[in-house]
Amino acid sequence: MMRHIVFALMALATISAVAQTRQAPLRVLGIYSTDGEGDHVEFAVQAAQFYAELAKRDHFQFDVTTNWDDSNLENLKKYQVVLWFNDSAHTPQQRAAFEQYMEQGGGWMGFHAAAYNDSSTHWPWYVQFLGGTVFLGNSWPPLPALIDVDDKTSPVTRHLPAHFLSPDNEWYSWQPGPRANKDVKVLLTLAQSNFPLGMKDTLTGGDVPAVWSNTKYRMIYMNMGHGDKIFTSAEQNHLFEDALLWLGTKR
Ligand code: ZN
Repeated sequence: MMRHIVFALMALATISAVAQTRQAPLRVLGIYSTDGEGDHVEFAVQAAQFYAELAKRDHFQFDVTTNWDDSNLENLKKYQVVLWFNDSAHTPQQRAAFEQYMEQGGGWMGFHAAAYNDSSTHWPWYVQFLGGTVFLGNSWPPLPALIDVDDKTSPVTRHLPAHFLSPDNEWYSWQPGPRANKDVKVLLTLAQSNFPLGMKDTLTGGDVPAVWSNTKYRMIYMNMGHGDKIFTSAEQNHLFEDALLWLGTKR
């Protein structure tokens, strides 16, 4: 009799240990601005829909806000990954909270204008977070571009072919190039065959990474994010999905 009780208790202890080691469901927060460039707002609205649908399929919780004051540490800590669809934090309080969140192991994926920074940004921490790089130039009008996959072994790029056509986007170039930073892992780059890219504004060539990670943080930046065509590529949609799942499980 006693032996049976001991076995029962041991079984219960095992079940409880398994339950405790199982991770809590992934929680993701999307933030965007509604008062920016129209094409950037349009992308953000589509991105929010895209990740809401993905949340059902991949069983994570997705919340979305257009109030950047939700970028406070108490709120951010509820989430494993924060997505910036079209803007970055502006007030000193929002920025300080984001810095703390990331320095404490938070996850971030930013799209397109989220990484736009220039001499008026006045946020040195963010520049080093992005890999020490500053916006240099852009292509115009929005055009598709052939993308080279730098690293096929990454869980982020696993569903991509070696090259793929990324739909209409305004493409940015950077200075210094993110690849110059030893902590940066470039995942996708604009193929040389695209250049010159653009008509009114032109990217003439050189090394123009489109997706990278600063490996000192749990982060990925994607240059895609301008206009209403971004989610028309099944291949690229896989990238957006795999990147989030990678950030969400890399904790
Ligand atoms: Zn844009």
